[in-house]
Amino acid sequence: MEVFPNYYEDFSCIADRCKHSCCIGWEIDIDEDTKAFYNSLNTPIGEKIRANIEGEPPHFILKAGDRCPFLNNDGLCDIILTCGKDALCDICTLHPRFKNFYASFEEVGLGLCCEEAVRVILIRDERFEIEIPKCDDEEAEFFKIRQSIFDILQDRKKPMLCRFEDLAREFGLTFDFVIDTLVEEYLELERLDEKWTDELEKLKEKTFDKGIFNKYPIYFEQLAVYFIFRHLSEALYDGDIRGKVNFALMGCFLLGAMWSLNEDKEKMFDLVRMYSSEVEYSEENLEKMRGN
Ligand code: SF4
Repeated sequence: MEVFPNYYEDFSCIADRCKHSCCIGWEIDIDEDTKAFYNSLNTPIGEKIRANIEGEPPHFILKAGDRCPFLNNDGLCDIILTCGKDALCDICTLHPRFKNFYASFEEVGLGLCCEEAVRVILIRDERFEIEIPKCDDEEAEFFKIRQSIFDILQDRKKPMLCRFEDLAREFGLTFDFVIDTLVEEYLELERLDEKWTDELEKLKEKTFDKGIFNKYPIYFEQLAVYFIFRHLSEALYDGDIRGKVNFALMGCFLLGAMWSLNEDKEKMFDLVRMYSSEVEYSEENLEKMRGN
C-alpha cells in the first residue's frame, strides 16, 4: 500500500521545458525485468536500446555532456515516444519520487533534485499533510514524534526563525551554525556539479541576517518539513532522530545564508535543487551529514 503527501497530485514532469533534466548527468541503472523486456523487443528501438546498454549493473551509455542516449534534441524521451511510459526502467519511472518503507505500507514523496518538484513543494500555501494507515506500536510512536516536529515547523502563529529555534531546543540543538564551519563540511562532500562548489565558496567569511527565515516563511516551512518527511524514517533503523533533525536544520540554515546573497526566486529555487542533488542523492554524503 502506498500513501502520498497532499501536494503529490500537483506534480507532473515538465519534460522539454525542464532546464535541468534528470536525463542529463546521472548514470541510469536498468533493473532486471526492464532489461529482459528490452531484450525481447524485436524492433529498431529495441536494437538501439540494447546497443546503448553496458556494464554490471547494466546502465545506459551516456552521450556527450552526460546525456541519456534516448533524450532527443527536443528534450523528450525516445523510449516513451516509441514504446510508451510503461517501457521505462524502474529508476526512470520512479524519479523524482522517493519512498519511505514501513512494515505494512510505503510513503511516496517528491525529491527536490527536480526543479518542478521544488516549485510544487515550496510555493504551496497549504500545510504538508499525509494520512498514515494503522501501524504497529513502534511505528505509531515514531509518527507521533514526527507529527510533533511538523507541528512545531507548521505553527504559523510564530515567525519562522522562532519555529526553527523551538525545534532545535526541543532536541538539545541550536539553530545557529558557524557559516565557515558549515561551508567546510559541505565542501568536503562528494561533488556532482562544480557550480555547487562556487555557491559554497561565495559564503566564506560572510555573515547574514537571520531575518531571511521570517521573510520567506512558507518556503522555509515547506523545505524543513520536506527534510523531516524524507529523512526522519531512517531513525526507525538507527534510532537517531536528533541527527536527522539537525540535518534538516543545517540544510535550511545553509540555504538561508545562500538565499540572503541573492533573493531572486528562480535562483533560490535552483539552489534548493542543487542542494538536494548534491547531498540527498549520494549515500556517502548522506551518511556524513545525516549521521547514520
Ligand atoms: S528533473 Fe523533473 S521536471 Fe525535469 S525532466 Fe526530470 S522529472 Fe521532469
